Amino acid sequence: MGYVKGLICKECKKEFPKEPIHVCEFCFGPLEVDYDYETIKKVVTKKSIEAGPPSMWRYEALLPLDESPKVGHHTGFTPLVRAKNLGKALGLKNLYVKNDSVNHPTFSFKDRVVSVAVSKAIEFGFDTVACPSTGNLANSLAAHAAEAGLKSVIFIPDDLEAGKILGTLIYGAKLISIKGSYDDINRLCSEIGNTHNWAFVNINIRPYYGDGSKSYGYEIAEQLGWKTPDNVVVPVAGSSLITKIWKAFHEFEMLGLVDNVKTKVFAAQATGCSPVTTAIKNGSDNIIPVKPNTIAKSIAIGNPADGYYGIKTANSSGGYGEDISDEEIVAAMKLLAQTEGIFTETAGGVTVGVTQKLVKQGRIKPDEVTVICITGNGLKTQEALADSFPAPQVIEPNIDSFEEIFANGLTV
Ligand SMILES: *Cc1c(COP(=O)(O)O)cnc(C)c1O
Repeated sequence: MGYVKGLICKECKKEFPKEPIHVCEFCFGPLEVDYDYETIKKVVTKKSIEAGPPSMWRYEALLPLDESPKVGHHTGFTPLVRAKNLGKALGLKNLYVKNDSVNHPTFSFKDRVVSVAVSKAIEFGFDTVACPSTGNLANSLAAHAAEAGLKSVIFIPDDLEAGKILGTLIYGAKLISIKGSYDDINRLCSEIGNTHNWAFVNINIRPYYGDGSKSYGYEIAEQLGWKTPDNVVVPVAGSSLITKIWKAFHEFEMLGLVDNVKTKVFAAQATGCSPVTTAIKNGSDNIIPVKPNTIAKSIAIGNPADGYYGIKTANSSGGYGEDISDEEIVAAMKLLAQTEGIFTETAGGVTVGVTQKLVKQGRIKPDEVTVICITGNGLKTQEALADSFPAPQVIEPNIDSFEEIFANGLTV
């Protein structure tokens, strides 16, 4: 087991050993995991994957561990929902929702990256894991650290939703709230990493962490019957997920598990934090950092680590980038809930609302197979809906009270 040769610089291709490092010391490019695809080709087949566990670990040969996973054994293999009702509302005949709002154990796609990163941190011998987080990563890291018996130190912006805060504290994590944006915290954590020998899962463990996201792409392809979709609409924060879905589809193509990949990848952001989609719309390769101001806090990263590659992925696939307002996010959260019975968080509102926009623009066509990424759970971001619904009517527990409100115009 374990088909990792080492790390390789994404830019200058210089090779590095398997260590907790993430930046090329020659050209400062990001490091990524270098797999032994020749051997993988000989051992991985559709059959071997289908015989695996109903979790992301059915793709273990394509994930960057040397030993068996230490945590997150039940993460992944979430439903790919055939979304007929939402499709009708959006004018799409072949619409699917990849639903990580029910991922195990903390209800977001971050359980995938953290299962890998914490397992890797244990392989490296760390006793403490840490991260800067916009919320879901905090929840997931705290939970997996608890399962592993590791200490966890987690840094968040001081304006996060209550569910994200309590959903971190419950696991016994050390939680530090910072007066600043995610980008300020990320910078601070890099400095802390110089003096504390911790596994910052999305900094010094980032090359391994990021590859956990590939499982989301593998699952889409397998669950479509070993096919890649025509379109995939991806929420973008640091741009890890969007680049790894693309990588996953192309690895499957290289391994002969799917035919030619023709998927258009669409980046989705909130207008209040849209450095990636703005660059795509402007035809630019470069991120201009922004100060986030949106209810989609889980994807509010103003200076995304892999932003350049996120732009490249959307462009080279023939996709595009779009963003929507906070009001449109709320409307889209309601639309998904009321058509499919899926309660997603703000980031899921972003992908549903952006898909709607892309259909109107004619960039996504009615007959194409389209997958919307739903990456987080709505019970964690209730604040976004605070003013959306009137409180339910309160009545006495007798039939007269009920008939009274019914006569007064209660509609069902
Ligand atoms: C973190 C996150 C994303 C996207 O993250 P990337 O940094 O772009 O990989 C999307 N949705 C949710 C709910 C998230 O928490």
